[in-house]
Amino acid sequence: MKYSIALVFAILLGSTSQAQDSAMFRKIANQILLQGKCYEDLRILCKQVGNRLSGTPAASRAISWGERTLREAGADKVWLQLVEVPVWIRGKENLSVREGNTGNWLSLPMLSLGNTVGTGGKILEASIIMVQDFEEFSRLGTKDVAGKIVFFNHRFPQQLVNTFEGYGQAGSYRWNSPNLASAKGAAGVIIRSISTGEDDEPHTGSLRYADSIRPIPAVAIGNRSADLLEKWCLKNPVTARLQSNCRMAGTKTSFNVVGEIEGEQLPNQIVVVGGHLDSWDVGEGAHDDGAGCVQSIEVLRTFKALKLRPKRTLRVVLFMNEENGLKGGMAYADSAQAHHEEHILALESDAGGFAPRGISLGMSDAQRRYLQSYKSLFLPYGVYDFEGKNGGADIWPLQKAGVPVAELIPDPQRYFDYHHTAKDVFEAVNHRELKMGAVAMTQFIYLITQYGL
Ligand SMILES: [Zn+2]
Repeated sequence: MKYSIALVFAILLGSTSQAQDSAMFRKIANQILLQGKCYEDLRILCKQVGNRLSGTPAASRAISWGERTLREAGADKVWLQLVEVPVWIRGKENLSVREGNTGNWLSLPMLSLGNTVGTGGKILEASIIMVQDFEEFSRLGTKDVAGKIVFFNHRFPQQLVNTFEGYGQAGSYRWNSPNLASAKGAAGVIIRSISTGEDDEPHTGSLRYADSIRPIPAVAIGNRSADLLEKWCLKNPVTARLQSNCRMAGTKTSFNVVGEIEGEQLPNQIVVVGGHLDSWDVGEGAHDDGAGCVQSIEVLRTFKALKLRPKRTLRVVLFMNEENGLKGGMAYADSAQAHHEEHILALESDAGGFAPRGISLGMSDAQRRYLQSYKSLFLPYGVYDFEGKNGGADIWPLQKAGVPVAELIPDPQRYFDYHHTAKDVFEAVNHRELKMGAVAMTQFIYLITQYGL
């Protein structure tokens, strides 16, 4: 077999650069695993700021925390980007149920769904009608449903290996069941939580009222409470009493936090890495999405610590209002367009601080194939899955504007035990798994800032 001199030269060059990249990957991992501060950053965000729903004083404290932490990590420039956010207030709430007409009222752990209306502090008492899924609900008429509270007893599809696929399927019960129930005259909705948990933890999260319908209160209960309610509903008439004070309270001025290291050779080409700064109003927003924020800051800190001047501009964005409006993601994309910024790629981490398994690539087939050619560099770090085609929610407006996007894919088995619950606290995050996620993100961002896409 004969090789041309040029081909031999190209192969040799390729293997040298592969060896150099591999050495850089190891340097990045050493830096983060030995010196990384993301776990300590997460402790401060969770314990000193706490949960931070958009428009709350805690969200303002989180913005100051983000600014300060990005500066300390070594960003050349840090600034705030204006975002007008919706404000939703939970207030006091309780739900109790009674089997038959004479039994005792039993109080169930519950959480109103985010953005839902409440009962205005009054007791809403109504009989419950249970359905297993949308299909069963579609067979009911207005006369079956009017004035009742509909219990959507849909279970998380536990048979799926990737729980995020289950979220896509089960999530519609949170987003849409109040619309369907209201259209048939229901007084309210109870859903079985979008949860993989073998526990009684209620999971909140946004719903979306359709414009044309009368908004009705919607709440979630944990899996054990749902099991009990199911048992009762199969035997006897069941009545519920719901009392809640939640409401929308206009909008407030808030901010995305942005920090960057300017590119040395191509400063106008921007590579974004980010997570969302807001969280639900229960727990501490540790996995969702404190983890993504501190990992993104760690990417920048690692470039600084290794004195690695990126060829292209590396920009960290901590987005506001992912949970109940996505206004931060939209404001960022609008600003990028207004300023004619050139975005090479945006990477988000918003699937939990668990051990990384892959990076999802939302871009053209040619770009995906090009990035997949680096897969062997990631394998020693347990990162093997480059088949996904999604980005995160916050960078979806960028993606819609044509920017290639990517998302860190952590191990998905435990995320929906914690998602949007009081259990999503700092202690639920493992320091090594969190750092390994930051390692994979930094390695990936290194490739993009150096070689482009
Ligand atoms: Zn999130």
